[in-house]
Order: sequence, then structure tokens, then C-alpha cells
Amino acid sequence: MNSIATSITIALSKGRIFEETLPLLAAAGIVPNENPEKSRRLIIETNRPDVRVVIVRASDVPTYVQYGAADLGIAGKDVLIEHGGTGLYQPLDLKIAQCRMCVAVPAGFDYAAAVRRGARLRVATKYIQTAREHFATKGVHVDLIKLYGSMELAPLAGLADAIVDLVSSGGTLKANNLVEVEEIMAISSRLVVNQASLKMKRTLLQPVVDRIAGAVQ
Ligand code: ADP
Ligand code: MG
Repeated sequence: MNSIATSITIALSKGRIFEETLPLLAAAGIVPNENPEKSRRLIIETNRPDVRVVIVRASDVPTYVQYGAADLGIAGKDVLIEHGGTGLYQPLDLKIAQCRMCVAVPAGFDYAAAVRRGARLRVATKYIQTAREHFATKGVHVDLIKLYGSMELAPLAGLADAIVDLVSSGGTLKANNLVEVEEIMAISSRLVVNQASLKMKRTLLQPVVDRIAGAVQ
């Protein structure tokens, strides 16, 4: 279900990604007419009559773009790994919403010793694919527990021994008496493009992609 060939739909999530995307869109001559934090509208028009923004949950961005309901989207590498990337062309690292994926444990827990003696660890995370891959590569035995929010609570409440979560300043970990024991990977947000859109709407999309590329810091 591709939007008509003469217009562009961009999928964005509210908050950090929306805020950090605004300057990149501006460089491409695109300015949203409303702030999704204030308006409750889910479809936002822009200064360009042929460009609109749809506001979706961060983890839904790849799905909208995969099925062509949006031509372009901006999503974290974390989200793209979990989605799998099917049907998506990923031309640009936008270097926004930068953080890292890491393993964290309660301050008193000797993670390295547990790993050395081959203990089976319970790990709570929203990022099942990333966690599975990481621990498999390291040869650590884990039972993964899928959560949808506030991973930091899991070890404190006795649900898990460790968590895999995104960290930037480390403030939330510290406030909950958790320590980072392994960095899994650096995370930032990527531009994603529907593969069919890129072929069918290249004259419309390529200049937008190029101008965004030129504005990446
Ligand atoms: P959710 O929809 O689950 O609330 P968030 O708004 O927390 O998602 O995060 C959206 C995206 O922002 C994530 O997919 C990630 O790429 C990025 N992100 C998450 N936490 C941070 C952080 N602490 N610092 C920078 N970027 C982050
Ligand atoms: Mg959020």
C-alpha cells in the first residue's frame, strides 16, 4: 500500500528522535506544522504540501516503512536489529539519539565470576535478538525474559540477575544501584527507506535523502 507516487510520508516517533530529527528535516526544506508533544494528531502536515509525517511508536517505525505505509522513517539501531530490517534500505547513520546497549547487574553481583563458573543467568530485556546474539557469541548461558519497560526494576524485584538495556548518561542505572558490566554495541538512529518507494519515487526521495546526508554531523 504505497502512498501515491507524488507525495512522501515520513514515520517518526515522538520525543528525542523527533526533536533531533527536526534540524535534519529542515536541511531538506521540510518543517512540520505541529509539535506532536503538544498536538494529539498522529498525521502532521509540513510546509511542503507533498510531505507529511506520521507519528508512531519507536518500535513500529520499521514496520510502517517495510509495508510502504511510510516511504522514509527514522529508527534506532536497537529497534532495527529487533525488527530484522526486511524490506528496508538503510542508507544513513544520522548519529542522533546516541547511546549504548549494555549488560547491567546489581552493584553487589559478581557478573564476571558467575560467567567464569558457567552459571545460567536470568536476563530481562526488551531486546531479545540483541541479547541472544550477544550471550551466544560469548558462550554465556542465559534465560531471556522479555519485558516492555523499566528493565532496571527486574533485578531489584528479583525477576532477573541482569538486564540488557540502553544507557546514555548512566543516571538511571546509578539511581537504581545497578552497574554496567559489558557494552554490547554503540547505538544511534538510522534513516530507513522503503525499497520499492526508492525505485518508484526516486526523483522525489533522493534529494531528501541527499540533503539529510549533507546535514549529518
Ligand atoms: P519507547 O518507544 O520504547 O519509549 P524510547 O522513547 O525510550 O522508546 O526510545 C526511542 C529510541 O531512542 C530508542 O529506540 C533508542 O534508539 C533511542 N534511545 C533510547 N534511550 C536512549 C538514551 N538514553 N539516549 C539516547 N537515545 C536513546
Ligand atoms: Mg519513550
